[in-house]
Amino acid sequence: SVPLSYYCGIGRASKDGILVKGSTFIEALSGIDKAVFDKTGTLTKGEFSVNRIEPEGMSETELLDLAACAEAFSDHPISKSIIGRLGHDIDPSRISDSSAIPGKGVEAMVDGRVVTVGNVRMMKECGIDLESEEDRSETNVYVAVDGKYAGRLVISDGLKDDAEDAVSSLKDMGVRTYMLTGDTEPVGKAVAERLRLDGYKAEMLPRDKTSELERIMSSSEGKTCFVGDGINDSPALARADVGIAMGCIGSDSAVEAADVVILDDSPSKVASSIRISKRTQTIVA
Ligand code: ADP
Ligand code: MG
Repeated sequence: SVPLSYYCGIGRASKDGILVKGSTFIEALSGIDKAVFDKTGTLTKGEFSVNRIEPEGMSETELLDLAACAEAFSDHPISKSIIGRLGHDIDPSRISDSSAIPGKGVEAMVDGRVVTVGNVRMMKECGIDLESEEDRSETNVYVAVDGKYAGRLVISDGLKDDAEDAVSSLKDMGVRTYMLTGDTEPVGKAVAERLRLDGYKAEMLPRDKTSELERIMSSSEGKTCFVGDGINDSPALARADVGIAMGCIGSDSAVEAADVVILDDSPSKVASSIRISKRTQTIVA
């Protein structure tokens, strides 16, 4: 992994909590005309609240307990919210064979049962078809136990306080704004309309994000930045002209893949870093 000291603190930027990995990225930042954002944890807080627990064939307590155990070893914002709702420690000896499937969910052995937690795509992998369920602007987290549908947790996430400012400042600078999300179409649409983004795509797997990013990159002459929270987004961070990671201190792969790190969680610092780079370029020229 790359130590943070590898980033050179470039004047104003570092004082603002923006670390830039080398001066070539100052130049690249100044030429940005497209900004592509991840949604969860980047434009939204990534702190979901569990609104409803809707079990099938078990109690709410049991459904929440099984889901939280399956999520116990994941850092995903959804995992944290489910574990938070449980409100007490989980005995790790109950869990084995835990694995995360990026853009879909998690699966683990809990008390000797296979517990699968995730979206419609994740459920499809264990032969459960929930396509017709997907019509609302909340995020459904489905749970299957030993391949049988066991219910869902209905969760929602709020926009970050500076998300609107982040997008409007970029637009004022002539930067086009896009969002790529693994979340559902209705959830993606609601966020995109609220923020008046120039474009969005939902239901994207991490690899889809990279190819959609490439399409956006080739749509105009200028440079493109990808802004992500680092969970699942390392490929897109690495592919963009400038990869901007935030809220990911502790996620080594994201810090390694990124060219710019925003130390706090503020997406409005994307516009600040472009503004600072333009000023720096003018001084150099
Ligand atoms: P985004 O692109 O919005 O940042 P991700 O690519 O991280 O979202 O995840 C996309 C979708 O995959 C989530 O909206 C969720 O439905 C599902 N998912 C991913 N990880 C998990 C998890 N640990 N538990 C449950 N669902 C998950
Ligand atoms: Mg994300």
